[in-house]
This record gives sequence, C-alpha cells and structure tokens, in this order.
Amino acid sequence: MRIIMLGPPGAGKGTQAQFLVEKYKIPQISTGDLLRKAISEGSELGKIAKRTIDQGILLPTDIMFKLVKERISQPDCSAGYILDGYPRNIEQAESLKGNVEIDAVINLVVDQGVLVNRLTSRRTCSKCNAVYNLTARPPRVEGKCDACGGDLYQRSDDTVETVEKRLETYRVETEPLIRYYDNLGLLKNIDAGKGMNATLDRICAVLESL
Ligand code: AMP
Repeated sequence: MRIIMLGPPGAGKGTQAQFLVEKYKIPQISTGDLLRKAISEGSELGKIAKRTIDQGILLPTDIMFKLVKERISQPDCSAGYILDGYPRNIEQAESLKGNVEIDAVINLVVDQGVLVNRLTSRRTCSKCNAVYNLTARPPRVEGKCDACGGDLYQRSDDTVETVEKRLETYRVETEPLIRYYDNLGLLKNIDAGKGMNATLDRICAVLESL
C-alpha cells in the first residue's frame, strides 16, 4: 500500500499517518521529520533546511526527491509506505511520476479557520516524533511523551508568524495537487474535521476498498 497524505499544515497528516503505521505495518516517511533530523545532526542538508523551515517556505525539488527516493529504497518500504508532507507542489509530484508508485492520495479536508490554533498548540516528542495537542490531545504527564517518556517541545515553525506563512505556502504551492491527483484518479477526500478516530475510520474504509 503506497499512500500520499495530503492536506494543509495542522490537518492531522502526521497523526493519522502514525495510526496507519500501527495498523498496516508500513513506515511513515515524513519529509519534515527527515529534515528536522538533518538539522539536529548538523549536516549540509540540515543547514539548508534550518534556514528554509523557519521561513515557512519549501526546499528545492531535487533535494527533496533525492531524500525521498533514498528513503523509499530501504527494505522496510518493500510492502509500502505513507508519504507525509511530500510531494508539496506540482513540480515535486511530476518528479515522482514514473519513478515512485502511488496507490492512493488521502486528502484531509478541514476548515482552515481551526488550523492556526491547532498548530500553535501542537507539541512534538523530541525522541519518537509523536504529536500531541495541548487542548485536543494532551499528554498524560505535562511535557512528557505518553509513548516513550521523551521531552515534548514546540517546533520552531509552529509559532503564529511562521504558521501564517506555511498556510500561505500551502495555498499557493500545495493546494493545486488536489486537482492534479483528482485528474489522475488517485484522490480520496476525507472529512478530517470530526475528531481523530472518526477520521481514521474513514481513511481505513477508503484504503480497504482499494
Ligand atoms: P512539515 O513537518 O511537513 O510541516 O514540514 C515542515 C517544513 O519542512 C516545511 O514548512 C518546509 O519548509 C519543509 N518541508 C517539509 N516537506 C517538504 C517538501 N516535501 N518539500 C519542501 N520542503 C519541505
């Protein structure tokens, strides 16, 4: 099962992808997580990523393609994968076409009005990348991950200013992918505004009907 998760920042792509990893035993490939790892390692890619991420804009297509292609070629991807946050624009989608197989594109549809609030109250585990929300999905112990006990932190791009820019980048660059994948017959729209479990049920129903 080879899936792309599409939707604006804060739609719940990462959270749903983590549920799908458990259920279908295929890896989540989050380009944002790969870039944040590169930043923490201080690599060349990390230096480019740091500058770009904090401005809320996208890294170049060739860099992203190489990163994803390398990750997908690893053995744990042989039964499938969940691409989370990639592709992010038509150019990236075109670079995938013919090179990487995709079975479905899950488009999480949410009211854009809730996104700023969701993103600024998001907290992420520094060890396992699990995602929490201070109001909708708080951790059992403040500041600690339920799953691994790691410290939770606020991403440097989850501040109000960067969030506004990321949402604009989404509207200009990423939203056109909805029509692009609809034309290819791959798009599955999912109402993601009714809670995490209801959203997961809808996604699973779609995936099981493929
Ligand atoms: P995310 O964790 O998916 O919200 O991504 C955080 C940031 O990483 C984005 O705002 C971009 O700056 C960068 N990024 C993540 N995925 C991509 C991608 N596919 N193409 C370019 N930049 C990306």
